[in-house]
Amino acid sequence: MKKHNFSAGPCILPQEVLQKASEAVLNFNNDNLSLIEISHRSKPFVNVMENARSLALELLGLEGKGYKALFLQGGASTQFLATAYNLLDTKAAYLNTGTWSTKAIKEAKLFGDIVEVASSKDKNFTYIPKEYSIPSDADYFHCTSNNTIFGTQIKHFPETNVPVVCDMSSDIFSRQLDFSKFDLIYAGAQKNMGPAGTTLVVVKEEILGKVNRTIPSMLDYKVHIGKDSMFNTPAVFPVYVSMLTLEWLKNLGGIAAIEKINEQKSALLYNEIDRNPLFNGIVATEDRSHMNATFTLTNEALTDTFNTMWNDAGINGLNGHRSVGGYRASMYNALSLESVQVLVDVLQELERKA
Ligand SMILES: *Cc1c(COP(=O)(O)O)cnc(C)c1O
Repeated sequence: MKKHNFSAGPCILPQEVLQKASEAVLNFNNDNLSLIEISHRSKPFVNVMENARSLALELLGLEGKGYKALFLQGGASTQFLATAYNLLDTKAAYLNTGTWSTKAIKEAKLFGDIVEVASSKDKNFTYIPKEYSIPSDADYFHCTSNNTIFGTQIKHFPETNVPVVCDMSSDIFSRQLDFSKFDLIYAGAQKNMGPAGTTLVVVKEEILGKVNRTIPSMLDYKVHIGKDSMFNTPAVFPVYVSMLTLEWLKNLGGIAAIEKINEQKSALLYNEIDRNPLFNGIVATEDRSHMNATFTLTNEALTDTFNTMWNDAGINGLNGHRSVGGYRASMYNALSLESVQVLVDVLQELERKA
């Protein structure tokens, strides 16, 4: 039987998507060729790319609003510098809520002045700073919507007159937001969309072309837009699987439908963490992520027993990130409520045993 996969990334994908993807590797489109051995310029693959790009905009509610979707390579980490390359003329504002924001800030500093408007580093990123102001002369404001490693999530985004750039790698397509309030969204596929190897960038075209520098082609959003995300050979398999996941999500009822399930899953787990005297949540309650729940054992002597129990229950990927310790249950879109129930049962069984 398939394991209950709580891995933080690469992570669980819908079983029907894996099934279709594996079939396409052997025989794509009934053409008696593999998806990964045909030209990316062939009609069947061009259709895949177009479908993936338009599904992304459709699900985010951004069709016809001046946005373009791109499937690029180099991971979300390349977007840390690509965003600055394309948008940072003199000064940009960054909210520092964890490891990924810190890395984004480091890259952006190569291109201009960075104002860190607030940071939660003082408490090892266990909360989201809320009182801060964004300089109105900043070229953009950058934030990370969900902090995969620490388990915090921004619930209310700041109102600002400057363009908003957001790393949504670990919660894109998981909850309803007014996505038109963001000018550039990027997300590595491997958290909620597909295999590692492609990164979705959704950008409002009007914010581009305003910096005074020459941008290398591979990092230039305008180049990729001009070539319909086919400037060079795209990551054909990750793009195809992402397309399948987006189709799966659309058939399910889109973000509104998955958000309800995601709320049920996280409520089920957090309620147990709060009720069970053997467990403590790591982050501020109001900032808890619906995607990545971090928690610790109150009695470390139970570590081996607990680890054996969840392994025996067929649970995978529950260890916390090495910089945080404890446990992290990642409950991405494809994880079922039943899997969360299996985890909650283990937490309760430990309480009975201890
Ligand atoms: C995983 C992750 C990244 C890094 O993604 P890569 O594709 O490995 O570069 C960046 N930001 C967030 C929020 C992440 O969760």
